[in-house]
Amino acid sequence: MKRRQLLVNEVKCKSILNKSGIPVIDYAINPYYGCAHKCQYCYAVFMKKFTGHTEPWGDFVDAKINAPEVLERQLKRLKKPSRISFGTVCDPYQPLELKYKITRECLEKLLIYRHKLSILTKSTIVVRDIDILQKLHKIKVSFTITVVDDRVRRIFEPHAPSAEKRFKGMRTLSHAGISTSVFVAPVLPYFTDSDDTLNEIFRYSRLCNAQYVMFDTLNPYPKVWRNMKRLIKAQFPALQEQYDYYYSNRKMYTVRLRRRIAEIAKKHKMECKIVF
Ligand code: SF4
Repeated sequence: MKRRQLLVNEVKCKSILNKSGIPVIDYAINPYYGCAHKCQYCYAVFMKKFTGHTEPWGDFVDAKINAPEVLERQLKRLKKPSRISFGTVCDPYQPLELKYKITRECLEKLLIYRHKLSILTKSTIVVRDIDILQKLHKIKVSFTITVVDDRVRRIFEPHAPSAEKRFKGMRTLSHAGISTSVFVAPVLPYFTDSDDTLNEIFRYSRLCNAQYVMFDTLNPYPKVWRNMKRLIKAQFPALQEQYDYYYSNRKMYTVRLRRRIAEIAKKHKMECKIVF
């Protein structure tokens, strides 16, 4: 197998606790610029323009090695309990976290505060930090699940762990008393939205004690859509028409999908949150 080329830099950041544009989050913490998971639908690709990187998204990661010290300073200035989320434009538990432990050290800085924290990840490395997660005031760990079939996962999320491993990680956290949830995002037409796959996701989520399953659809930002179209054409040419249909009829698609998800959630007696 061809060895992977990943460009890694150590950088210093000026700010790590950054105001978030996402309505349910006050601040975002992203311990890395870039993400080695290299998901093909990743909207965070826009971050490239802030980093000056010319390499393809997923082929570079800058580790913000001074993030814990910067966070410590910024937290002292925060006047009220806030909603802080790890991993809005990178996975805070991507493989480099094993070496750098930046996410872990940032969590340690948060131990003395009473903020409401959330972590979004596709990685089981988060299990390493159970000892800290158990001590934090309020924390939820959400695992992103996009496709269940691992052959398909390798195409869309080539360097992320399998869905099976993510569910396993979730179960370990839940058993350790940590609140978990599933974020199905993006729902990929054909690969995620069939009744079989949705049922499977709910079934596993329930088995792993997830509190709820949240859904979002594929957002066709021009860069993301171009990449997805290229991939579908190369790997699944028979699905090109279906993806074109999705692009031109998203409103109708989402109305139907919402209804089906709600029905399936009810059958599994699980709470679902639909954000599209
Ligand atoms: S894990 Fe998230 S941030 Fe990382 S490449 Fe995948 S979608 Fe993008």
